[in-house]
Amino acid sequence: MPVSGGPARGPARDPARAPARDLSNRAVTGAGSGIGRATAHAFADAGAQVVAVGRREAPLAGTAAHDPARISPLVADITADDGPESIVRTALDRHGRIDVLVNNAGIVNSQSLRTYTRAAVEPQLATNLLAPVLLVQAALPALEDSRGVIVNVTTSVGQRAWPGNSLYAAGKAALEVLTRSWAVELAPLGIRVAAVAPGAIDTPIGEHAGHTPEQQAAIRAWQLAHTPLGRVGRPEEVAWAITQLASPQASFVTGVILPVDGGAVVA
Ligand code: NAP
Repeated sequence: MPVSGGPARGPARDPARAPARDLSNRAVTGAGSGIGRATAHAFADAGAQVVAVGRREAPLAGTAAHDPARISPLVADITADDGPESIVRTALDRHGRIDVLVNNAGIVNSQSLRTYTRAAVEPQLATNLLAPVLLVQAALPALEDSRGVIVNVTTSVGQRAWPGNSLYAAGKAALEVLTRSWAVELAPLGIRVAAVAPGAIDTPIGEHAGHTPEQQAAIRAWQLAHTPLGRVGRPEEVAWAITQLASPQASFVTGVILPVDGGAVVA
């Protein structure tokens, strides 16, 4: 996917105009592993600069090793009080602009309704729902300047049921509602907003959640039973969808939730 050239700021903010954007700087949260790492690599392979955000330095360094000239790590917690502002400020300091913001960082805390506690629920919603809101807010002036794109990463279970993980599904479903609402609200500014909704993808998310091998095996079995293509997806397959939604060729696409789930959502 080529990265377009051309000036950053058009003379008017008419959403019907073909965007004249240089999609050269993209911020990806949760870029140290899984889908975020694959997305950082895909953007860099397309020639973009990528600010790779995560809490741990070592995984981000692993991501950046793919192309150190194009991928720069940024250690930051998106749920910290100053997290969103400092991420945006650093991205602008490094590259002068933000063309694409990918809200990918996410956590799972598997609990049944009976066992949920406030302490288990709050970090999940703070990471998966509130942080993307505050990050988009902080990035809005830069995205308005670039006539940029926001891509949120949700989940196929946001449109279905996930017994034993209902708060995760609920937070992601809310992010999908925000995606649609922001698409309409930000269209006059020339900003597009979309989401990808992955199904079961082979990443360390279960390990990061502290699942036991037995728990993880049970989750995988449930996921596969609900996946018509009969396999787990690869992070690169989700990264491909993110790069397509973020590309200049997708200039008339906004408000869409794109499932990348082997058919799970329609089964
Ligand atoms: P992953 O490998 O665990 O990646 C999540 C990343 O987010 C980690 O690298 C983690 O790095 C980072 N992160 C977590 N909390 C953060 C915070 N407060 N601030 C900054 N970074 C933070 O999982 P993944 O599967 O690639 O997940 C990516 C997204 O896809 C998530 O939103 C997830 O909900 C969604 N998703 C995944 C699947 C799947 O089957 N894998 C399915 C549907 C949706 P640090 O710990 O270093 O911060």
